[in-house]
Amino acid sequence: MTVVANEKIDDKKLQKASEIILELQNEMPKYISNGSGPFLAAIYDNQGNLIAKEANSVVSQNCSHNHAEMNAIKAAEKKLNTYDLSAFNLSLYVTSEPCIMCLGGIMWSGIKAVYFGVPSKRVEEITGFDEGFKPNWFEEFKKRGITVYGNIAQDAGEKVLKDYVSGGYKVYKPER
Ligand SMILES: [Zn+2]
Repeated sequence: MTVVANEKIDDKKLQKASEIILELQNEMPKYISNGSGPFLAAIYDNQGNLIAKEANSVVSQNCSHNHAEMNAIKAAEKKLNTYDLSAFNLSLYVTSEPCIMCLGGIMWSGIKAVYFGVPSKRVEEITGFDEGFKPNWFEEFKKRGITVYGNIAQDAGEKVLKDYVSGGYKVYKPER
């Protein structure tokens, strides 16, 4: 799968994002074996300082909105003591494409850039998780000044998700 973006691809940004997302994918099994869902997000400032790193904790904390992105945003806002991260010029790196809820959470947080690994379509195909409906979000984020790059280190990410399913871990969603 080729990398997709809502701006002309900047090789330096992509290189840095590839390194960070690959590192997150490599760390994922440790989080999964400690009870996290198979998604991990990290927020960095533009000097490369790590501000927050959080995994999905829906099952372990009994909270349906504890996705990795939401947890990382919450931790960053707490650490920086603000509800608006805009002034900090932060980037969110996440192992899979944000779901419909997290897109909203990212928009209201003031995050300036999103870099993700496995696209939602593949997450749904591999795991059965429901990622929601997300019409044209690359363009909508662009209008709001949020950079998006996706399908980064996708093969490594798909392997983590496949291992999660074959490991018999829970694919949680509401009953319908
Ligand atoms: Zn989400």
